[in-house]
Amino acid sequence: MGGYSKFIVLGLLIISMTIGMFSSLYSFQEVSQRITAHTTLSAWSLAQLELEYQKLSTELQLYRAGKSDGDKLSLAYDLAWNRMDVFLHGEESAAVRSQFGAEALIQKVFLLLQQHESLIENLPSPDSPELAAWEQQLLTLQPDIRQLMIQNFTGPGATRGMDSIEATVKHISWVLAVVALLSLLMSYLLFRESRQHWFLSLHDPLTTLTNRAHFLTLLKERCYQASVKRQVLSLCILDIQRFNEVNDLFGYQNGDALLQGFGRILRLRFGKTALIGRTGGSEFALLIPQHEVTTLLPDVLKEFDSLLREYDPAHRVYLCCGVSTYPEQCSTDGELYQFAEQALSAAKKNSPNHYQVFNTCMLSDFQRRRELATHLRAELQVPDSAKLFMCYQPVHSVQPSEKVGMEALLRWRHPLFGFVAPPEIIEIAEEHGLGDALGDWIFRRVFKDLGSLPFWQIERISVAVNLSESMFTLNLPTKLNQFLRNSPILHEQLILELTETIALHDFATSQQIMRALQKDNIRIALDDFGTGFSSLAYLKDLSVDKLKIDKSFIQQIDLDPRQLYLVRHITELAHDLGLTVVAEGVETAVELDIVAGIGVEEIQGYHYSRPLELPHLISYLAKHFHPETPS
Ligand code: C2E
Ligand code: CA
Ligand code: CA
Repeated sequence: MGGYSKFIVLGLLIISMTIGMFSSLYSFQEVSQRITAHTTLSAWSLAQLELEYQKLSTELQLYRAGKSDGDKLSLAYDLAWNRMDVFLHGEESAAVRSQFGAEALIQKVFLLLQQHESLIENLPSPDSPELAAWEQQLLTLQPDIRQLMIQNFTGPGATRGMDSIEATVKHISWVLAVVALLSLLMSYLLFRESRQHWFLSLHDPLTTLTNRAHFLTLLKERCYQASVKRQVLSLCILDIQRFNEVNDLFGYQNGDALLQGFGRILRLRFGKTALIGRTGGSEFALLIPQHEVTTLLPDVLKEFDSLLREYDPAHRVYLCCGVSTYPEQCSTDGELYQFAEQALSAAKKNSPNHYQVFNTCMLSDFQRRRELATHLRAELQVPDSAKLFMCYQPVHSVQPSEKVGMEALLRWRHPLFGFVAPPEIIEIAEEHGLGDALGDWIFRRVFKDLGSLPFWQIERISVAVNLSESMFTLNLPTKLNQFLRNSPILHEQLILELTETIALHDFATSQQIMRALQKDNIRIALDDFGTGFSSLAYLKDLSVDKLKIDKSFIQQIDLDPRQLYLVRHITELAHDLGLTVVAEGVETAVELDIVAGIGVEEIQGYHYSRPLELPHLISYLAKHFHPETPS
């Protein structure tokens, strides 16, 4: 049942239950009121009438026996007269009058009274025969009046009242039964719904395997139990490499079927012993209470391979696994997961369909990175740090120009671990949530460094800063405006370099950020072009100004004609889109001649200069520009 229809059904159930309840209550109240009113009225009027009639008869007997005087008799006569008059002509008694021949009988009795009116006015002596005859007549009619009373209480009218009470009770019972049934149905629907929600909150809807969040919770529990029972646990993370290509080439339906198929394989092989989860888009995890997971993995890889024949005939996709063990290699569930992920990264670097067990080498690498992260956090508190600093590599125009560009490159000379490669610093920062802080530190440091350049150099340079993933957010333009306020360079002298991976991660947001930056006259260069997604199709939709062709295309461009062919075509296409092309990694004069011949506008590489520390940059620029040369 769809989301809306469920609410409609529930709404209708509640409305019909409410209507049923109220209508039953209303009809019950009406019937009982009607019956009570009728019973009260008829009982009262007839009882009064019989009473007065009997009193009259008794008074007549007493008078005749000489035990009462005439006044009492005439009072009883008047009261009986009134009672009958009211009964015969009153509106309230109309209903009682109309049944069981009540009107005719009382009319008869009333006539009897009327006939003896003169007798009451001139009351004869007690032994008068007229009085005896009248007494006899009154006594004769008395049983009829009694009978009328009985009929009124027990006759069909009264039974009809009882019947309608009974009918109403029956009606209410039905309604209540329906209400109870509807309540049961509603409770069942709510129960089913909440059970579904509960299941979906813990499982992946596609494979019905445990989802990432729930898997991590269970992993924590199982690790705790294992530590108490002194058991060994093996965690295996399996990632389907290049899975997106199945989606792209054969459609999402095939992609989904492949994931479901793989989920089935895992369930069949490990369902009884292992905890199985889908922990990412193409990532699965197995937690097995034993050592021997590695003996089982080759079979899984084989089965997966046959599954692939169905969904990926071209065999682009393959499986990689990383394995770690608790408590041998680690002391917490978090570490167990981290180590399996690290082993997985190593497996990815090896041949396809490979598994890698976390080893001591990886452990020492992990410890080193953890230590580096702690030191980096401390270093980021020091804006003038001598260990963490920026180098600047010149970028020259092919055409003679009085302007020089430069790329700011991060350096870390660690007292213990020596030189730490910039990509590793960035990786560690991103992994440990320091990406943002590092980004801020870099911008502050670059603008501070530029502040020490002579003003005639500042006017003639532009500087490119590399962005890491966590820096490329919607608040980047605002942040940069703040930094640039205290910087010696103008907005148009700043270039931001970002890779395709970062730019295409969230295309719509990237477009938004880039448009805002372009509005502020900050330029954007797409870095390492050719190593990632490398599609020129999306470039027209992004506000990019420059394209930096990766150095791997430039190196040996003089020896490999295919490199030359690629660089030429990339350059032509970029020019068609109005972009400036920069060749990175130009090391020799031959390479320079070739890329210049192709039409590349800017050159960066060891041929001109290696990245320079600030004092060397100042000397380099001083050699290039003479203070008097007009800019
Ligand atoms: P990148 O952005 O592509 O930077 C260019 C890299 O190529 C630099 O390496 C540079 O030293 C090197 N290079 C320049 N010319 C030549 C050449 O002729 N031959 C050779 N073999 N290499 C050359 P570096 O400084 O080691 O940086 C490596 C990567 O680290 C950078 O690649 C960039 O992705 C990243 N990185 C460096 N500094 C920063 C930074 O401040 N922020 C961010 N987010 N990333 C940075
Ligand atoms: Ca760069
Ligand atoms: Ca680059």
